[in-house]
Amino acid sequence: MTARAAQLTPAQMDAFWMPFTSNREFKAAPRMITGADGCYYTAADGSKKYDTLSGLWCASFGHGRPEIAEAIARAARTLDYAPPFQYAHPLGFELAERVARFTPKGLDRIFFTNSGSESADTAIKIAKAYWARRGHPEKNQVIGREKGYHGVNVGGTSVGGIAPNRAGFGELMGATHLPHTLLAENRFSKGCPEHGADLADQLEARIRDIGAEHVAAVMVEPMSGSAGVIIPPKGYLERLAAICKRHEILLIFDEVLTGFGRLGATFGAELFGITPDILTMAKNITNGAVPMGAVAVTEDIHAAFMDSTPLEYDAEFRHGYTYSAHPLACAAGLAALDVLERDDLVSRAADLAPYFEAQIHNLRGLKHIVDIRNLGLAGAFQIEALPGEPGRRPWQIALAAWERGLYVRFGGDTVQLGPPFIAEKADIDHICEVLAEVIPATP
Ligand code: PMP
Repeated sequence: MTARAAQLTPAQMDAFWMPFTSNREFKAAPRMITGADGCYYTAADGSKKYDTLSGLWCASFGHGRPEIAEAIARAARTLDYAPPFQYAHPLGFELAERVARFTPKGLDRIFFTNSGSESADTAIKIAKAYWARRGHPEKNQVIGREKGYHGVNVGGTSVGGIAPNRAGFGELMGATHLPHTLLAENRFSKGCPEHGADLADQLEARIRDIGAEHVAAVMVEPMSGSAGVIIPPKGYLERLAAICKRHEILLIFDEVLTGFGRLGATFGAELFGITPDILTMAKNITNGAVPMGAVAVTEDIHAAFMDSTPLEYDAEFRHGYTYSAHPLACAAGLAALDVLERDDLVSRAADLAPYFEAQIHNLRGLKHIVDIRNLGLAGAFQIEALPGEPGRRPWQIALAAWERGLYVRFGGDTVQLGPPFIAEKADIDHICEVLAEVIPATP
């Protein structure tokens, strides 16, 4: 056990029930992080670990930004908390207008949450409530996608399509799932793969089965991150959007992971030239420094709520969180988006993306690597599963990489990369060199 971790008492180790963690494994050999600066974490033993996933895809502008820290401290001293229901503070309005300058044109009404999961469930509730407000309460079903990830609250868990995440909870919210687009014939594609656009047409069949009059929304990530960086086939999202439009079904883009630059464009919506009706955000909005999420909707959706609430003192949408638009999160958001703009980090991500693509695809042919996928500054190595032990190899790869000075994320049978936008080419080389040794050496 490392020196710093050893300072924790057994009671402290026992007390923290860690999220999405194999608690017993972790507590036997903790990987404790005690500091962060730029692209590096400091581990409890003082060693540096390159952050190959920008935390959890959220600290993409680099750790330890002083402007963000100072903005948070200033907010804490000035106004530590203000009730967001029927009262407000100016930073919420400032950040909403600021976010709306980043979101695709037309999506400029911003509802604040505290996480990606809350953004997903908020979006689902908005979609259902929208149709009810427009006089169609029966138009309330949501269609998601296999392998989709929309967080862990009830709505997002239901519409999400990662089967083990849904299992064991009994009845959640009903939802239908389109097939995922991870096809064998697309292996080792660079960027958007060639095959699979026609999978979008399955939406037509689902709509026929359910009836368009019962479908409120289709919810997808422009790029599925958590299930292993699944890149949409060329033309797929465009077809999905066209079908939604034809049947008057709302299209929700979950851009919690892709938002604010990850794909080398401000949003996936912008990259693909599609304007969804609802767009969810979180993660990079504060560069990960304070929990925050947001949902952007069109003027038409917003108006449905404003127009159909007769009492002037009644909330138009009976939804919100104690910490919606928290002053510290708003301050962090304003400072983070300043950094994004000032340092032109979306362009930086776009400029680095071709090099990232070339370098990670150089690992093709190494033992255990059965697919490599990438878009923008997101990438994944698909690792051949050990028979009967899914996920074991990527876990072992991550452990070995940690010893070699890299923090990497493993999920399912993938090793995922999402480097900070401030990464240098030499950093990409270093990540690939270490993984090129570690992956084939794993049993
Ligand atoms: N949606 C997507 C697309 C995500 O990638 C994530 C997080 N990985 C979430 C929702 C959930 O976000 P959070 O963990 O902040 O609740």
